[in-house]
Amino acid sequence: MPDRIEKLCIEKGLRMTEQRRVIARVLSSSTDHPDAEVLHRRASAEDPRISLATVYRTVRLFEDAAIIERHDFRDGRSRYEEAGDDHHDHLIDLKSGEVIEFVNEEIEALQVAIARKLGFKLMDHRLELYGVPLEDAKD
Ligand SMILES: [Zn+2]
Repeated sequence: MPDRIEKLCIEKGLRMTEQRRVIARVLSSSTDHPDAEVLHRRASAEDPRISLATVYRTVRLFEDAAIIERHDFRDGRSRYEEAGDDHHDHLIDLKSGEVIEFVNEEIEALQVAIARKLGFKLMDHRLELYGVPLEDAKD
C-alpha cells in the first residue's frame, strides 16, 4: 500500500522509481525531522543501492513539489518533514539537538493580528524557538 508521500508524488505526476518509493516511505515514517544523511542511513537499510546523492536529488524533487518541507535549524544541516496541514512550530533543544513540535493558539492569533495591523492577510509563518533545558541553564 502506498504511503502518504508516495500518494502525493503520484498525484503530482512524479515518476516513482523503486528508490524514490523507499525514500518516500522512510520520510513518511520519520517523525524526527531527519537530515539527508539520516534519511540515507534509513533508506539504505531497506535498499543498500540507494546513494546519498540519490537521497539529495529526491528530497530536492519532493521539496520542489511541495510534498516535504525543508527546515534550517541553524546546525548547518537541512532537515525534512512531510508538508502537511497539521501546522506546528518548532522548539530546538540546543543541547541535544532534539526538535520538539508545538502549537500555541495565542501565538497563532497574535501573528494574524500583527500581519493585519501591517496591512496584510497572513498566509504562512515559521517560528523556531532555540533553548536549553531549564536544569542545564542554571549555571
Ligand atoms: Zn515539525
